[in-house]
Amino acid sequence: MNIVFMGPPGAGKGTQAEAIVEQFGIPHISTGDAFRLAMKQGTELGKLAKQYVDSGKLVPDEVTIGIVRDRLQQDDCADGFLLDGFPRTISQAEALDEIVRDMNRKIDHVINLAVDRSLLLARLTGRRICKSCGATYHVLFNAPKQEGLCDKCGGELYQRSDDTEEKVGTRLDEYISKTAPLLDYYSTQGLLRQINGEQDIADVTKEIAMLIRGQQQ
Ligand code: ADP
Ligand code: ADP
Ligand code: ZN
Repeated sequence: MNIVFMGPPGAGKGTQAEAIVEQFGIPHISTGDAFRLAMKQGTELGKLAKQYVDSGKLVPDEVTIGIVRDRLQQDDCADGFLLDGFPRTISQAEALDEIVRDMNRKIDHVINLAVDRSLLLARLTGRRICKSCGATYHVLFNAPKQEGLCDKCGGELYQRSDDTEEKVGTRLDEYISKTAPLLDYYSTQGLLRQINGEQDIADVTKEIAMLIRGQQQ
């Protein structure tokens, strides 16, 4: 099962990906996570990505596409993958078509988590991430049992430096101008599946899982 999650920043892609990869045993490939890891490690890629990520802008296509091409060729993707946060431009989507075609595979579903813009700022500014395992929380909507600590591993929670009101504005503008056109791109290909991402987290997971299972029967 080869799946793409789409949706604006804060729609719930990462949160849903955590639950779906657990149920379906496919790898979760997040370009945002890949950039943050490289930034933390201080690699060349990290240094390059940092100037874009820190300002809320998209990292250039050539760089991003190269990362995904390498990642999809790894053995653990043989039975499928879940892409979260890629593609985000038409060029990236065209490159992905080519990558999967070269692998004699195809995208099964592009799942769009639809959430009204008015809800996204609160979701993003309240987001907290586990330093150790990467699990995602929210101070109000998905609070950990113990404040500041991860339920799953006890790790410390932190706030992403781009989850500020100012940077969220830039990120949403980038989404509208560069990523939203992909909805038409995938709709034309008959791959787009719409999910109401404003429901409770568990209800969204149920809908996505049903959609994926429907295809497998
Ligand atoms: P994305 O990966 O699309 O940017 P996340 O999964 O990181 O989004 O979610 C953004 C924030 O919103 C997180 O703090 C998360 O806990 C919270 N969140 C995710 N899904 C929901 C939901 N259905 N209802 C309320 N809050 C949610
Ligand atoms: P969110 O879904 O919450 O907006 P991500 O963690 O997916 O955040 O992405 C964080 C940042 O990483 C983006 O603002 C952008 O700078 C960079 N990034 C992630 N994915 C891509 C992509 N496919 N193309 C270009 N830049 C990306
Ligand atoms: Zn953790």
